[in-house]
Amino acid sequence: MTDLATTLIHHPYQPPAGFSAPQPGVFKASTVFFPNVAAMRQFDWKDKSAYTYGLHGTPTTYTLEERLCTLEGGSQCLLVPSGLAAIATVALALLKSGDEVLIPDNAYGPSKALAEGELLHWGIRHRYFDPMDPADLAAKISPRTRLVWLEAAGSVTLEFPDLCEQVRLCKSAGVCCALDNTWGAGLAFKPFDLMPGAQPALAVDISIHALTKYPSGGGDVLMGSVITTDERLHMRLKLCHMRLGLGVAANDAEAVLRALPSLPLRYRQHDESTRALAQWCLLRDEFAQVLHPALPLSPGHAHWLALCGDASGAAAGLFSVIFKPAYGQARVDAFCDALQLFKIGYSWGGPISLVMPYQLESMRTGWPAQLQHGTLVRFSVGLESAADLRHDLAQALLQCA
Ligand SMILES: *Cc1c(COP(=O)(O)O)cnc(C)c1O
Repeated sequence: MTDLATTLIHHPYQPPAGFSAPQPGVFKASTVFFPNVAAMRQFDWKDKSAYTYGLHGTPTTYTLEERLCTLEGGSQCLLVPSGLAAIATVALALLKSGDEVLIPDNAYGPSKALAEGELLHWGIRHRYFDPMDPADLAAKISPRTRLVWLEAAGSVTLEFPDLCEQVRLCKSAGVCCALDNTWGAGLAFKPFDLMPGAQPALAVDISIHALTKYPSGGGDVLMGSVITTDERLHMRLKLCHMRLGLGVAANDAEAVLRALPSLPLRYRQHDESTRALAQWCLLRDEFAQVLHPALPLSPGHAHWLALCGDASGAAAGLFSVIFKPAYGQARVDAFCDALQLFKIGYSWGGPISLVMPYQLESMRTGWPAQLQHGTLVRFSVGLESAADLRHDLAQALLQCA
């Protein structure tokens, strides 16, 4: 007779197979059991044909990876603990001492900080290029360039680059190009098929995505993905990812799996409200410029139109305003403080609207020619009623008048 303590651990009951319900099961593991030693020696986690260790994949992470591949049109996916970790993984897997990485000047800020604060110590240099001038990118690609980052739209200033031309330049130079696809979320355009119908397809090499934003949708999960279509490139990234010990928690993967079915609906709603608010801001006297790719006067509008289809193409849930110079920092801060529904906070993609003032001087190599001078405030539009959000903007503007 086995002791109760042992029986409670090695319990014989197996629930019947075939359980089926709307949400996939959540599998949590560090250890994964092998049926025998031969299987332990033979099982391979790299091709997802079996399980070997929690960090190398579970049914929960495999399921999320496959769904994200479908979302972005890729064929392999890695999950990492944050969007920034996705950016770092790509850098660590592909760059070595002596190499150079090119980054758009309007890139997600921490991506620049990674290059300046870490990559440089390892002998990896970086250069910033003008996202709105393909000639500048072309001129900066050198024999040392091993990676080019692309981002559409820029995450604070929302200029929309000529992404197709940027990708063509990288292809013709034989340089790997990685897109930060957080804004597009796999919905606004297809990163691995930028010009539908083109043969061969015009595609980025790597698409990273801060799942923290729209896919999570709740403001409560940090996660990133690295998606590719090239098996060799994927394996290089995957081995680096494994050696660095990166992985995600099952409960976080579950939260994203649960939110994915409503992603297109949420994205559309964010988009609709954002356009309405950006249009309203255009008519206000306080602003020197309203930045939103679907507005005809916003920088790169024509590139957005060409890539995202037509005027009804997707444009996500962000817009920024540049206050006229008469509104100094203190008045702009007072405006942000006066908002009730818009909370002051970083990130985007959740249900609650957010606002953040930025000091562009400290973020760019110079004041961008396409932007008016003044203090920039970025809004992330949540899922509240657009009319209520408009009233909130109006009352806050009154208070800083
Ligand atoms: C938020 C964000 C990231 C980083 O995601 P985290 O999960 O917060 O690390 C990267 N790129 C863009 C464009 C983002 O908005």
